[in-house]
Amino acid sequence: MTHNNDLEKANFKVLMEGDGTDRMQERLDVIDVFLGTEEHITLEQMLDLLKERGHDFETVFVAQCMNRMVELGFAQKKQFEGQPIRYEHRHLGRHHDHLICTKCGKIVEFADEEIERRQLEVAARYGFHMLQHRMDVYGLCSECLSKRQRFLPLAAVKPGERVAIREITGGRTRRARLASMGLRPGSIIEVIANSGQGRIILGHEHTRLAIGRGVAEVIMVALDQEDQV
Ligand SMILES: [Zn+2]
Ligand SMILES: [Zn+2]
Ligand SMILES: [Zn+2]
Repeated sequence: MTHNNDLEKANFKVLMEGDGTDRMQERLDVIDVFLGTEEHITLEQMLDLLKERGHDFETVFVAQCMNRMVELGFAQKKQFEGQPIRYEHRHLGRHHDHLICTKCGKIVEFADEEIERRQLEVAARYGFHMLQHRMDVYGLCSECLSKRQRFLPLAAVKPGERVAIREITGGRTRRARLASMGLRPGSIIEVIANSGQGRIILGHEHTRLAIGRGVAEVIMVALDQEDQV
């Protein structure tokens, strides 16, 4: 990796020299710090890292360097919803997509050949020649999910678990329809069958009910035991 970074740095220097750029050494310090991280880094974080290395550069200067790296194909600028602009390496010939946790902001990279291939196929089906794309998947990371395990959508509850309905999101019509089935905040229900697809079978008092998966996604429940604590 270090070897690769050295090559990138040398490559950057050549391109910059061709432009007759000033403050060359300082620009190289910036690219050095950037290439040394494997993160999706904000300008703010870049400034902090540079300071740690003893470089107290102006924000404008560093921003300018970052933009230069984007222009020259060393960095990529990314903005995920609800987050500041971030920069990441641009490795030639390599591609990845992202999973973004909407709670803690964690960003996970993934690459899946099947998804990439299918996207090309879908584009081709519509007569598109795909040039680029980005796939950002928003959700909760495993850490955040485990922290809120006690409060989850009904669709995620395993068969055999007893849960208490906490909240039903979505429209009033849906709430009224569920209420007519006896399902409202406070109701204790048992999940009888939930295969992860299609309908979910519930036991409520002495009745078995079938609920569509979409509806089960908007019924937030708490594990029964916790509710009694
Ligand atoms: Zn992709
Ligand atoms: Zn998270
Ligand atoms: Zn990335």
